[in-house]
Amino acid sequence: MLKRFYLFLLPLTIIVAACEKDNTLVSSTNPVGNYVIIPPVAPPTEATDSTLLMGNPSNATTNVADFSNYLIKEGYYSVSYSRDLGRPNWCSWHLGSTDYGSVPRQDNFRANPALPDGWYRVDNLSYSNSGFDRGHLCPSQDRTTSIEANSSTFLMTNIVPQAPQCNQLPWANLESYCKQLVQAGNELYIIAGAHGEGGTGTSGDAMSIDNGRVSVPKNLWKVIVVLKDSSDDLRRVKSSTRVISVMMPNVNSLNTDWKSYRVSVDSIERATEYDLLSKLPTQTQTVIEARVDNQ
Ligand code: MN
Ligand code: MN
Repeated sequence: MLKRFYLFLLPLTIIVAACEKDNTLVSSTNPVGNYVIIPPVAPPTEATDSTLLMGNPSNATTNVADFSNYLIKEGYYSVSYSRDLGRPNWCSWHLGSTDYGSVPRQDNFRANPALPDGWYRVDNLSYSNSGFDRGHLCPSQDRTTSIEANSSTFLMTNIVPQAPQCNQLPWANLESYCKQLVQAGNELYIIAGAHGEGGTGTSGDAMSIDNGRVSVPKNLWKVIVVLKDSSDDLRRVKSSTRVISVMMPNVNSLNTDWKSYRVSVDSIERATEYDLLSKLPTQTQTVIEARVDNQ
């Protein structure tokens, strides 16, 4: 009899344990203060505005053995990090009006303590005198609601060695344009990455910096999905949706006009061998990834 009682309890215990890991499945609002278990009615889906709503371009994982494509979910953005390149492969985030606050730029570049044990930790001095800027993928200006949010963008796992005239001219101008789009009533899904090896900074050509521990990318790319501010975002992306994508050489002789670096998403996919926007229906990807923005 006792044995049968425990067999009955076992599945319940598993459900409670599973629910405690995810607050969305548990409500503590009933009057006696006990947890009310809401049984799952559908498989869990990623929330709207998720950093990876449009997909995980390289199927990065949190498995330490996946050292060249290691997924770091910072909360404010998600990154695929390469241990051996000493830099992120790509960074993905959502940008909406509620991401803008009054917190000033923290400038606290630092090593990411969350990297697995034994991995080299690129730090705030790793780029010193290299001729390259500490270039943000998710920019500081996109995360200004709290000190924590802004500080997260200064983790070196969000940073790549970027030629100053790439970082400060067209790349920065495109970041400002994204802000304008949001202030005009849009929300954006942005994926930015670095690709290839070898760039030209203020001290000339370099394949790597920090005694070979940080690879200098050949190009920086960015893909921006533009939606009117609303909900149910994934399903609102249609073949007519504006997508801005650019590929900028990591050299010190770029012009200020980000528009001159526009390419198709398809060409970024061919270069990187990633599948961008993979959560969208194939027919939608086919259309929006072939088009080059001309607005
Ligand atoms: Mn795509
Ligand atoms: Mn794709």
